[in-house]
Amino acid sequence: MIVGIDIGGTKIAVAGFAGGPGGSVRRVTAVHTRPTPAREGGEAIVRAVADAVAMVAGTAEITAAGVGTAGVVGADGGIASATDAIRGWAGFPLRAALGHALGVPPAVVNDVHAAAVAEAAAGAGRGARGLLMVTVGTGIGGAVVLPDGLRTGVTGTAGSVGHTELALPTALADRRCGCGAIGHVEAVASGPALEQTYRERTGVALPLREVDAAARAGDPVASEVIAEGARFLGRALAGAQAVLDVEVVAVGGGVAAIGERYLDEVARAYRAAAMPGPAVARVRPAELGIDATLTGAALLAVS
Ligand SMILES: [Zn+2]
Repeated sequence: MIVGIDIGGTKIAVAGFAGGPGGSVRRVTAVHTRPTPAREGGEAIVRAVADAVAMVAGTAEITAAGVGTAGVVGADGGIASATDAIRGWAGFPLRAALGHALGVPPAVVNDVHAAAVAEAAAGAGRGARGLLMVTVGTGIGGAVVLPDGLRTGVTGTAGSVGHTELALPTALADRRCGCGAIGHVEAVASGPALEQTYRERTGVALPLREVDAAARAGDPVASEVIAEGARFLGRALAGAQAVLDVEVVAVGGGVAAIGERYLDEVARAYRAAAMPGPAVARVRPAELGIDATLTGAALLAVS
């Protein structure tokens, strides 16, 4: 059995897959989830993953395993850097520790990188000549899958569209990004960034889904806050496409779940800012949802 593993800051998910023709995979078990013991750190997480894998696999032999994880993954499959959502995650030798626990050395990549592999094979980028994927949620993650496969980069950060610097209006120019820099698109277009902008303009603190509800009900400030975030993202995607020139740009994550209004605005801003060639790329919603990381991890396990 091929095992796909998704390690997030709040939840671990594991499922079993069978290999198919052309390096494809097909899920053959239920998805088992459990809370991430984030406060207990890496060794506890490895024990939790190993327990979950044992539940999923039963008596089946594990032939290959793949992991999509929170954090930046180094060339050795260890966590090169991470937020403090998981205690001691930065520096944890994940590939080595899981290899010991599972009996097979797993493929380990960042969770957005894994999700993009699945979207390229069976989702928004199916059949396309290259995919740039971006996920807009608590932060903004991204990934590049070229026709010959995933590009993780030298430091594991390839596709980090959220850390593109943009010229910003004065009121937003001092926003600090999750990475520590000033002026990155994540600081003005992530979910928390949109909530902050709405709060600054109205004095009212609302979660993003209520800002979205207000926009739908005709609140012009709420509408503009969401549209502005979409435009910032579109401009950053245009910059990335000047380098990549891939056929499909997929947008996923909690903010993209706002839907068509949001994605149309991203696409408009993207086309307005992109050079004529790459501007023809299709901007589409990501299709595979929460199982994308698991599926991509399983695909990487057999690739
Ligand atoms: Zn940044």
